[in-house]
Amino acid sequence: MKAKNILLAVLLLFAVLPAEAAKVNFKKYFTGGTLRLDCVREGNAQGDTVWVSRWLDRNAAWHGSRTQLLDPFDCGDYRVVVRDARSGQEIYSRGYSNLFREYKATEKGRRVKMRFEETLLVPMPKRAVRIALQRRDADQRMVDATVVDFDPSVQRLDTIWRQGERRDLEVHGDPSKKVDVVIVAQGYDGESPQKVGVDFYRMKEILFGKAPFSNHRTDFNVYGVVGDVEAAFGTFGIDRYLMTFSVHRLHDLIGTTPCDFIIVMVNDETYGGGAIYNFYAVSSLHRMAEYVLPHEFGHSFGGLADEYVDEEMSYSGLHSHDYEPLEPNITNLKDFGRKWQSMLPEGTPVPTPDNNNVPKSQCGPLGVYEGAGYSSKGVYRPAMHCMMRDYAPFCPVCAKRLEEIFGLYTR
Ligand SMILES: [Zn+2]
Ligand SMILES: [Zn+2]
Repeated sequence: MKAKNILLAVLLLFAVLPAEAAKVNFKKYFTGGTLRLDCVREGNAQGDTVWVSRWLDRNAAWHGSRTQLLDPFDCGDYRVVVRDARSGQEIYSRGYSNLFREYKATEKGRRVKMRFEETLLVPMPKRAVRIALQRRDADQRMVDATVVDFDPSVQRLDTIWRQGERRDLEVHGDPSKKVDVVIVAQGYDGESPQKVGVDFYRMKEILFGKAPFSNHRTDFNVYGVVGDVEAAFGTFGIDRYLMTFSVHRLHDLIGTTPCDFIIVMVNDETYGGGAIYNFYAVSSLHRMAEYVLPHEFGHSFGGLADEYVDEEMSYSGLHSHDYEPLEPNITNLKDFGRKWQSMLPEGTPVPTPDNNNVPKSQCGPLGVYEGAGYSSKGVYRPAMHCMMRDYAPFCPVCAKRLEEIFGLYTR
């Protein structure tokens, strides 16, 4: 081979490297167990700091994928990145958000510092690693905020002594190849054991009630955990916003149960719910739970944005107009190529005029409709109706992302 050709071959080799580098050898770096980091984030809109308050051995097999260790999506406000200490190679990463993202967009959150808990579950490293807790800089790029060293031969790890009572509600197989959902029953003190069983069943069937989740029933394992964690309506002054601040306690209750996603089921008939990407979802037992739960799961599982307009809401300024929103299902047309532009039928006008003839039971034609992400102007959504707007079926853009997320947990 001539020198020039060798150079070309080397260049080609590097060209294919990113895809290859995405494959991390699980057995080389990880024991098969699970490391739990309890973190605290404190701050306001001016800034925040995050630190690890407790290191735990979850005493449970790694429930996540062993082949999809690096997060392919640039989603969420934060990301945990595990790097091999010796080589610096990224061996695990996951994007997520925290309730703090909405707090700092409220009136109070602009001025007053507040503390928020977060719990990160990562595969247990075999040898020394550096764990970076990342956040976004002014240009929305992920940068290291706090970096901690973890050496399994040195670091003492706590364990959980008292966990909630676990029930296997519907288990289809190896947790590392399934989406493991834990439904935590809250507010059942003094209720009959039958009542919680009936409600677990109802929530599970609701979860499997809407596409695309209904088409993936056997891709899930669903577990129930009974125990008390404080959840309350009126989060950030919004009556229907039902959330919990006790994230560490929530994970104590879940204990060793395989857990990719959490649904807190609140024993209350009042309308309400809430969810944060890769954090948790909450739903009450209101008759609308049939719609509230898939909507909230769209947030926590898929990282989807709300497609509705509500400019009165306390954190309605959540989506900046200066840069393209992170969520796949809304755009401000700053960088529409990253969104559903390639899915649009040829000749679709941008923006697309409203079509009020589309019934609420359908999404209607794909387009770029103004009014989404709480704003009536300057933010656009893919369809007239969607589960993320008005409890219609998930629009094609939302459905596509949800399908992609299944790929991240079932291979
Ligand atoms: Zn929502
Ligand atoms: Zn949608």
